[in-house]
Amino acid sequence: MSRSLASRIKELGEEIGLEVVKITYAGAFPETEEQIIQSIEKGYIPKEDYCPFKPTPSDAKQLNLNKISKRCNPQSILKRAKSIISVAQGYLIEEGEDRLDKKGPLFGNIAPYAVANFYYEVKLKLKKIIDFIDRETNFKYSSKNKSCYVSLVEKPIAERAGVGWYGKHGIIITEKYGSWVVLGEIITELELEIDNPVPKDCGECRRCIDSCPTRAIVAPYILDRTRCLQYISERPIKVPVDFRDKWGDRLYGCATCQEVCPRNGQIKFKKYRPPYGYIGSQVPLVPLLTITEAEFQNYFAGNQIAMRSREAIKRNAVLALGNSGDPEAVRPLIKVLQEDDSPLVRGHTAWALGKMGGKKARFALEKALKEEDQEVKEEIATALRRF
Ligand code: SF4
Ligand code: SF4
Repeated sequence: MSRSLASRIKELGEEIGLEVVKITYAGAFPETEEQIIQSIEKGYIPKEDYCPFKPTPSDAKQLNLNKISKRCNPQSILKRAKSIISVAQGYLIEEGEDRLDKKGPLFGNIAPYAVANFYYEVKLKLKKIIDFIDRETNFKYSSKNKSCYVSLVEKPIAERAGVGWYGKHGIIITEKYGSWVVLGEIITELELEIDNPVPKDCGECRRCIDSCPTRAIVAPYILDRTRCLQYISERPIKVPVDFRDKWGDRLYGCATCQEVCPRNGQIKFKKYRPPYGYIGSQVPLVPLLTITEAEFQNYFAGNQIAMRSREAIKRNAVLALGNSGDPEAVRPLIKVLQEDDSPLVRGHTAWALGKMGGKKARFALEKALKEEDQEVKEEIATALRRF
């Protein structure tokens, strides 16, 4: 019975638009746990990512080993878990006609995984599979779905289930959709027939390692998050000065290591309009500089960017405008330097104006030297040295 149910689950997955549906057992991932701890010790994963959920100032830097262990153990999500259904959905989509003309120096780029909320879409599809299992088994087994990497280590799950294999950039590569996929999983008490891992690897290729603008892939399969533009773009933290020229026109995310991968070269763009949180790949930057929280939530409604801090997205917009070289950006940037509440945003704006150059930018920077925040003041002084 379980064997045929596994096949029917896969058929249903395909019917509802999940490109890959595979199954693995629900055992723990001790090797992954060890790797995470090592990466934290080497400083490749900030400790804060695994500190207690709501840290007090005294334990903010304290590593929560229990949290790591839970992420590597499916039975921490479901005590009697027997199997994990691991799925992948391709997210490389053709831009709608209405978006194609929106490109230029005053636009910021959204990485393909965030042009819409594919995670939410997958989550709803997983719910359909759970409903199917419940009906077929008369609600005898509990199942839980996860469609975002916040709770379980989903890449090791996908690898063990045979959804794909690890690329040297640390992302899962699927046969059908390359690495342009979001992952999701169902942890279930149901015992299902399992699939085998895919016996493939990158061979001698190292294009992603050599193409990463910030050298964030420090060795095959090892990512230093603190150098990764995708990771940084999602968080309201200071962007190291030597990364800012390399930031380019990114507004959210980075896909350079995926774009250069030969495994992704032949993947066809899907023709469909994602149903949730579609914002397209090009977003006008100038309006973001003065956007209120309510406008921000409205513009990115349904997209995962709405869950990020407005401060981080503004900082990204400022860097992209600084790199645009478009004189139209100078006046709005000056306004940010003079009026924005966030020292983080003002500091990066000083850098952007220093990069833009010109009399107006210089005058505004000199005037802003009366700035009270010490870090911003230093950013302004550094920017002025470029003139
Ligand atoms: S996402 Fe960008 S910064 Fe991060 S590893 Fe890939 S190429 Fe490097
Ligand atoms: S670019 Fe080359 S090394 Fe990197 S993931 Fe793709 S195949 Fe592997």
